[in-house]
Formats: sequence, C-alpha cells, structure tokens
Amino acid sequence: MNYDYIIVGAGFFGATVAERLAEKGKKILVIDRRDHLAGNAYSYTDEATGIEVHKYGSHIFHTELDEVWDYITKFTEFNDYIHTVPTRHAGKLYPMPINLDTINLLYGTNMTGEEAEEFVKKEAEKAGITDPKNFEEKGISLVGEKLYTTFLKHYTEKQWSTDPKNLSADILSRIPVRYNHDNRYFITAKHQGIPKNGYGKIVENMLNNENIEVRLNTDFKDIKDQIPATAKILYCGQVDELLDYKFGVLPYRSLRFEEERTTNTLGCAVINEADAEVPYTRAHDYKYYQIHQPEVINQPECIICREYPANFEKGGEAYYPINNDENEALYQKYVAEAKTKYPNLILGGRLGAYRYWDMDIAIKNALDLAAKLD
Ligand SMILES: Cc1cc2nc3c(=O)[nH]c(=O)nc-3n(C[C@H](O)[C@H](O)[C@H](O)COP(=O)(O)OP(=O)(O)OC[C@H]3O[C@@H](n4cnc5c(N)ncnc54)[C@H](O)[C@@H]3O)c2cc1C
Repeated sequence: MNYDYIIVGAGFFGATVAERLAEKGKKILVIDRRDHLAGNAYSYTDEATGIEVHKYGSHIFHTELDEVWDYITKFTEFNDYIHTVPTRHAGKLYPMPINLDTINLLYGTNMTGEEAEEFVKKEAEKAGITDPKNFEEKGISLVGEKLYTTFLKHYTEKQWSTDPKNLSADILSRIPVRYNHDNRYFITAKHQGIPKNGYGKIVENMLNNENIEVRLNTDFKDIKDQIPATAKILYCGQVDELLDYKFGVLPYRSLRFEEERTTNTLGCAVINEADAEVPYTRAHDYKYYQIHQPEVINQPECIICREYPANFEKGGEAYYPINNDENEALYQKYVAEAKTKYPNLILGGRLGAYRYWDMDIAIKNALDLAAKLD
C-alpha cells in the first residue's frame, strides 16, 4: 500500500487521471470491482465471430475537443465510422434527428427545405401553446402534435417509465430539426469513430505504465482499511454507496440489455424504436461499427442487443442520474459528508459527480483534474 494515489474505478476518468499522474512519477494503484477495465465503455471481441461487443450498450467516440482527441489517439487508432440512427415507426424507418426526409416520409409530402420549415412552424403554432407546462406541451410547441407524438412521446415514456406530461418542460430545451438531408447523429463532432481494437484495449494501453498497478475484482470496501493516511484516494464510484446510503439512495434510471445471436441482421448499427408497442428503446447490431473489417460485417452471423429502460434499485447498475433540484441537494449533502469522513478523498467520474458525461467529457474533466494534482 505504498502508493501516492489509490484510484477507485478503471473507467475513462480513473484511467486518465492514473496515466497523467504516473507520467508525473506518482505511484498509483487502480482498482475496479468488475473483472474488466474501461468501466461502462468496455467492449470485448467475441471469439466465434470477431464482433466487438459493447457490454454496456453502444459506445461511439465523438468529440469537439482537439485536446481530448490528441490525448486519446496516443492509445488507440479509430476507424472512420460516422454515427447515423434511423427510428422505426409502424414498420418504417425514419432518419433521426428529424430532417427533411423524416418530415416528407411522415406526411407523405415532397416539400423543399424552405417549405418544410414553414410547414413545421405552422404545425407548432396550431396547438397554441405559448407557456408549456410540461415535456409534452413543450414538445408540441416546438414541432407540432404529429412529429412529437410519433417520434418523442412514446420513446420518452419508455425511457422515463412515466407519461411525458409528468416530466418537466425544462428537460427539453430544443428539438433539433434539419431542413436538409443531413442524417449524421453527432453533427457538431469534429472527431468521431470506433477504436479499432476495442475500448478495453485503450484503457489497457493507458494503464500500461511501470508506476501503475491494477487490481480487478477489488471493491473499495475490501481495501479501505489498509490505505495509509498519506495516500490520496480518487473515488469514481457512487458517493451514496460510499457512505452506506445514510441519507437515502441517489436516484438513477437503469437499463437492461438482452443479447441474441442470429443471422437476422438489422443492416445498420442501431435502430431506435419510437412506438409504445415495442418495449425496448434501441436495438444494436454491433458488427456494423467495424467498418474497417468488412469480413466481420459481411459474415451471416450477428449479435443483436436490445436495450430496455429499467428502474434503478440500490446496488443495481446506475446509468442515467436523475438531475433535479431535490436530487442535487441530496448529492451535495453526501459530498459534504464525504469531505468530513474522508479528508484525503476526491470524488470523480460520472458516478462521483452524479452527472451524465460522454466519454470525451469524462476524459476532459480528468485531464483538468490531473493537471491540478501533484
Ligand atoms: C447506455 C450508455 C451508452 C453510452 N454511450 C456513449 C457513447 O456512445 N458515447 C460517449 O461518449 N459516451 C457514452 N456513454 C457515456 C460513457 O459510458 C461515460 O462517459 C463513461 O463511462 C464515463 O467514465 P467514468 O470513468 O466516469 O465512469 P465508468 O465508466 O462508469 O467507470 C466507473 C468504474 O468505477 C468502478 N467502481 C465503482 N464503484 C466502485 C467501488 N466501490 N470499488 C471498485 N470499483 C468501483 C465501476 O465498476 C466502473 O468500472 C454512454 C453511457 C451509457 C449509460
């Protein structure tokens, strides 16, 4: 236990801080209670098919930040995958986010971009909602009843397991609508792709440093009594769990993944399911991320994963924090308590911060933190 830092969590946040501090000559122990590196971004190669399976749902790397891209590409090459997501409604696929083709397909029209913009504006005005009181009213006020009901209502209902009328209007600041044929999902991304050797390998490369020791299958609670007072701890887990849930459970939404090996391919990487009758929100056909390996895509086999939103229970997989004023106050209460109980402990990562972060933001925040630590 002769380490300068104990880092709890081998996801992108913990791995980035570990790598940066190790380069400064610090001795680091990285632990994770899972049996693999890379946290929720973890992927592994299925031996029978060569398909890279994203264990916790599709992960597409995308960023607007050159600093993050320059950093992460020291540890991996990316392919040229550009993410697009069709949404299924009544058996037909529509581009998502909504673009000119989505509108023309849904309304059976042949409008130009200008005509469609004018049309959607009128559809939105039709409802006469000037002061939306909830998610549903906001959605209708932005794009009109039909586009909202078809593409947002049921999808949102499934995601949150509640009627969108019960959700705050603030969740929905805008609905992106493109009055052209652009169907790229991450339209502002300067860089994007899928790591050619998978996410597990990136983190393995990051932690391959003589100053870093890694212990998997190791929970913080198993080692906390052995940590010397001189070592600093970076804790990338849930703060409520760290403090034995003494003020209650921080609320999250969770997911359940169902995998199937089949020859019945989707023909693309992801399809969103907009309709209420389909209980899952997304289906993934992982092989379509491997555009640098046509032999993988062109084989008959595929691994389809269906993603079902689920309620979160204490001890389950915490995926999406439910950020509202009440939960933020509870989180801050835990942060204050953690400072008192563990003066040498820093909370980090998406779980420690009780925030949803994409991978690039987790890495950016970790780079910023590591620059401040000595
Ligand atoms: C379904 C889904 C899809 C996503 N898709 C994308 C995407 O396409 N693109 C994108 O950029 N981002 C995506 N993300 C976000 C991405 O997963 C996160 O940005 C990333 O995982 C954050 O890394 P992290 O290190 O903060 O947390 P994590 O990856 O969650 O790592 C935290 C680690 O800490 C470990 N840990 C926690 N508590 C303890 C303990 N007590 N003892 C030991 N170990 C512990 C956990 O086992 C875990 O491995 C997605 C997230 C979800 C939920």
